[in-house]
Formats: sequence, structure tokens, C-alpha cells
Amino acid sequence: MESSGARETPRKILVIEDEAKIAEALLAYLKSAGYEASAASDGESGLSAFNSLNPDLVILDLMLPKISGEKLCSEIRRVSRVPIIMLTAKTGLDDKVAGFALGADDYVTKPFSPRELLARVGSVLRRSGASPLFSRMSWNGGDLEIDLESREVWKRGHPAALTPNEYKILALLAKHPNRAYTREELIDAALGENFGGFERVIDSHIKNLRGKIEDDTANPLYILTVRGVGYRFGYGGRTETKALR
Ligand code: CA
Repeated sequence: MESSGARETPRKILVIEDEAKIAEALLAYLKSAGYEASAASDGESGLSAFNSLNPDLVILDLMLPKISGEKLCSEIRRVSRVPIIMLTAKTGLDDKVAGFALGADDYVTKPFSPRELLARVGSVLRRSGASPLFSRMSWNGGDLEIDLESREVWKRGHPAALTPNEYKILALLAKHPNRAYTREELIDAALGENFGGFERVIDSHIKNLRGKIEDDTANPLYILTVRGVGYRFGYGGRTETKALR
């Protein structure tokens, strides 16, 4: 079971908004609701904050200096399926349609009530935890493919024949590229809290996984070791993702 509830650390939310008053108010509400929230005030710093923070959700203003919200949304979607809520003063239906086309998960128009926004944040996080936005992920021109619906994995078009535990570990890492997981987190999140295994059990699963999906297990492309931490997914520079909807 990949229950996000197993995670003990607070969910990280990145607010990218150039209006200081709105950003400050949002941070205060999010923090009081138990989230770990940070803010960036333009598109450029928003993108670097996104890359360094690996947030669980992004609240993105549409009208931003330096890089527009639209551009930023597509930039983020190129590498991540993180939930995005667009925030904007625009109210036209066309803008909503455009926002969803760019990959936003929800849309809130200003002025909004903090309670409404918090409700949207909660519901988008629940939705993204329950069902993936993308059913099938593919890397390096089909070198590796994962179908999150059928739970199948292919290496250059051939079934990789993963065990259920190997699949759970790989799917968890792949769905959160760049996030480094400790062995304990991988056990809790992928194998279940009642697994009760030793942390080194993860290492043997990783070794077997690499044997099935890496060309060179000594220089892995997908399952990377993070020294002193654990493991993270490396997508080898190129990702294509097929949208489920
Ligand atoms: Ca703005």
C-alpha cells in the first residue's frame, strides 16, 4: 500500500506569488494548518525553489515577473507530476481551460478565502495520493517504462518481471523524482509499516531491481545511491510521460 499517511514529515508546499501580502497570508494559513510552507516571489526563484525543495504541492500565481506562471507550469510538468494549484486574478473560462491544459490540477481565482484554498489544497493532495495523474511513465525513449495502473514494468519493451516489493520501491521512487528516500522511509512507504524488516533488506531489493532495469549496475541511471541518505530516482535526463486524462 502506498499510503501517503505513512509519512510523518509535514507536506511541503511551495507558494510562488509576487504579491507579498498574499504570499505572507498564504504562508501563515498553510503553516497554521500544519504544512511546511515556503514562498518565492518570481518565476525564476520559483523554479529554483521548486528544484531544491521538492515540494508536495505548488501554489502557482499565473501573473509572475521573470517567468510567467504558464511557462513555469509547463516547465515543472516536464519533470514532475507534483500537484499544482493555479492562483489568478483572471476569471475567464479560457484561462481555466488553458491552466488545465498546461497541467494544473486545480484553479483558484482571486480574491479567495483562505478556507477555500486550504480545502482545495487538502483535496488535491488526497487526489494525487490516491490516483496518479499519469498512468504510464517512460524514460530514455522507452528504455524503461512503468505502468502505474497495471503495475507493469518494461525494460526496452521486455517485461522486467519485478517482484511486488521491487515494484513498490521503484514506483515510489519514480513518482517522486529527485526526492532522496532513507531506507527506513522506503520500508515504511513502500513495504508497509508492519514490514518489520531490517533496513539492509532494502539494499538487497535495490540490488535485484538494478539487475533488472539498469544496463550497468555499477553506474545506474535510474536508481541512484545518495551517500549517507539512501536512494533516489534518476531519470537519465529525458522523460516522456503519457497523461491519463
Ligand atoms: Ca501576480
